[in-house]
Amino acid sequence: MVRFSIAIALIAALASCGGDKAQAPAAKANISTQNAGDTRVAKNVFGHISTASAQRSEPIGGYARGCQAGAVQLPETGPTWQAMRLSRNRNWAQPITVDFVQDLSRFAATQPGWDGLYVGDMSQPRGGPMLTGHASHQSGLDIDVWMLPPNRLNLDASERENLSSISMRRASGAFTNDSWTPQHEAILKRAASDPRVARIFVFPGAKVAMCKNAKGDRSWLNKIRPWWGHHYHFHVRLKCAPGAANCENQAPPPAGDGCADAQVWVNNILKPPPPNPNATPSKPRGPLTLAQLPSQCMSVINN
Ligand SMILES: [Zn+2]
Repeated sequence: MVRFSIAIALIAALASCGGDKAQAPAAKANISTQNAGDTRVAKNVFGHISTASAQRSEPIGGYARGCQAGAVQLPETGPTWQAMRLSRNRNWAQPITVDFVQDLSRFAATQPGWDGLYVGDMSQPRGGPMLTGHASHQSGLDIDVWMLPPNRLNLDASERENLSSISMRRASGAFTNDSWTPQHEAILKRAASDPRVARIFVFPGAKVAMCKNAKGDRSWLNKIRPWWGHHYHFHVRLKCAPGAANCENQAPPPAGDGCADAQVWVNNILKPPPPNPNATPSKPRGPLTLAQLPSQCMSVINN
């Protein structure tokens, strides 16, 4: 069991979209490893199921090692949002996640220049590992939100495939560029202030910008976490849904506003430290097998 926890921490730490260096699994969820013999590659199973499971909604396991039961779909278009890249079929999530996205999009629509939100990847119909992209987004609690301010919400399916978001960064992410606006900061602040949210990943220059511009209460900055990438979109990660006994939270971010830590990220971008000669190269990891997922994910596949 100890070895299993360490593996989860490693996987989560290495996740390219939405890891976090300061983390460890929090309270142990009720996860068993009974499906020990199933060596099928999990993404080859989860990546080909196009509908949700007929089960009570439940996030299962961790963000980078889990699945979701009873997912619901974010409607492709709503009054204040559009789901993008519909061909990926990743606009599925837990009900709490779909509610959150709709709520945040209503707030975004109050911002000058924003008709709402363009919503990127959420999860697959049954969560789990994906054939392409994302180590996380597995348990129906992760959302990518485009940085591009929507100026219309009547994009057709092909426009949603071909339109691109825009980058907000300059100097490899040490700073924001001219596309970054107070409205981006207001939307991120709103998201970080939401009690359903565990953390938000964004490029380091954006966090430092928000640290400089924040007025008054700074507690919301705690959840804004600098991470690689995340300049075309920001990534919102929700806490386990209330009562979800098989869902595993991450430990919360370290106390404080995290601004000094973000400044270190920026300094390291501007002047990269010399490589550590004693660093041991990380072992390449094979893709997750079904045996490595919580055993409850087997019933998610089969229902
Ligand atoms: Zn993401």
